[in-house]
Amino acid sequence: MTDIFENAVLSIQVGIEDFQSNDERRPVSALRNFYAGVLLLGKQCLLNAAPGADPMEVLASKFVPVLNDDGELVHEPKGYQTIDLAELRERFKSFKLAWPAGSIKDLQKLRNDFEHYHSQAPKEAIRQAIAGCFPLVEGFFAILGRSPKASLGDAWDVMLAEKAFFDKLKGECDGTFNEIDWWGEITDRSQIRCPTCGSSLIYQADADNSDPAEIKGQCKACGDEIAAEQTVEILVEAQFAEDAYLAAKEGLNPVIHSCPECANETYVETGETVKCFFCDYSIDASCARCGTSLTASTISVNNPHICDYCHHVSSRDD
Ligand SMILES: [Zn+2]
Ligand SMILES: [Zn+2]
Ligand SMILES: [Zn+2]
Repeated sequence: MTDIFENAVLSIQVGIEDFQSNDERRPVSALRNFYAGVLLLGKQCLLNAAPGADPMEVLASKFVPVLNDDGELVHEPKGYQTIDLAELRERFKSFKLAWPAGSIKDLQKLRNDFEHYHSQAPKEAIRQAIAGCFPLVEGFFAILGRSPKASLGDAWDVMLAEKAFFDKLKGECDGTFNEIDWWGEITDRSQIRCPTCGSSLIYQADADNSDPAEIKGQCKACGDEIAAEQTVEILVEAQFAEDAYLAAKEGLNPVIHSCPECANETYVETGETVKCFFCDYSIDASCARCGTSLTASTISVNNPHICDYCHHVSSRDD
């Protein structure tokens, strides 16, 4: 089934051609082709790991348990749908293949973002997608024991150049926040997203500024200006959205709160971090009625001196 590999190479090459074209309709097509190619490459890695197997038994998305003629339990592919990127990663795990560096989360998020842009995806954002896929493509080729340069030809040179260019821009953008005290705590910088175009190339206009409230944010990809409050919210979201999501899923206290002091969505409460990234406020008080220390999750919105529970109880007494 080498045609999967050939199709993968072809899709990536067509995607890169679309990317280089000046035709305005082609950026979205560039992404579709590019992602399709990356996915196919990954599928080829699975097929290589199980050389004798029927491809559908390796790549099907759904399986049903069936008793065969000998009464043995086997799993058969259900339907013709094959795995998507998320399932590909899971299957790498169950095939004991190491997943290459590079974030699948980035990839999928960008892809979904791009589906919403339709024809107006900015070139910078596509450059980011190509740069983001780079480690994955490189890793898949390594698993396949093939040379990306020999297989992809010129398309590989374009990818190398785009990756280098994007990394340089990203480094410059990130560097403008160095004077902000807590910038070192924002480590998930690839997750930063422009609310307009999805690019992670957010910077502040004045690289000497150290006050979060004075940040003049801007997106290098689409040029949008972003107010200080929103810029800090974007950075907090980049770092803590995943924790917040997991906490919500497990029914734990929220991680990102509306700040009791400045009302921005920049108050973070985790085991390690308790503060507002915008105004630096942190709750340091105990409930005047029951004495438990107050947190953003327990403080009463009606009375900052007592906990929500005590407010509830005392208002019921009235
Ligand atoms: Zn933007
Ligand atoms: Zn605040
Ligand atoms: Zn209380």
